[in-house]
Amino acid sequence: MKRAIFPGSFDPITLGHEDIVQRADDLFDEIIVAVGNNTDKKYMFSTQERLAFIEATFKNYPKVKVMSFEGLTIDFAKKINAGYILRGLRNPADFEFEKAIAQTNRKLSGIETVFLLTASGKSYISSSIVRDVYRHGGDISALIPESVVKMILK
Ligand code: ADP
Repeated sequence: MKRAIFPGSFDPITLGHEDIVQRADDLFDEIIVAVGNNTDKKYMFSTQERLAFIEATFKNYPKVKVMSFEGLTIDFAKKINAGYILRGLRNPADFEFEKAIAQTNRKLSGIETVFLLTASGKSYISSSIVRDVYRHGGDISALIPESVVKMILK
């Protein structure tokens, strides 16, 4: 059973995240989208909201599950028997940052990180830009999944 976790803040989930999961769906038997809950971090959306947005996004993807976690990603991966960590790469800055983390994680746990390159046309999308646009009353509908637009703008 090839089980991967896709860890992140997902504050909120964007079309960039959705694309990575959709493309990884063929590669794994199960993908757990793992919503990080770091007590030191301030989120715009609560853990419950972030989980609900992701559940709505992947409601037609039977292999995709959503969970929240605290602490080290590798500890959570081991706890749920996931052999792979899935991450997306947008640009060289992502690569440099992710490289050190992936190497550390493999050293500490043996867990492999699998990277998918961002889709052309989606590399500029980030949760922080979505939050900024939303905070200032702009239109976020071209940046996040349609079902999430409905939930946020209800
Ligand atoms: P984190 O705080 O862990 O970076 P994010 O929610 O920002 O959490 O991102 C989770 C994962 O999704 C990361 O691997 C990130 O590189 C990837 N990601 C975010 N936006 C995009 C995008 N537009 N295209 C591809 N991957 C993306």
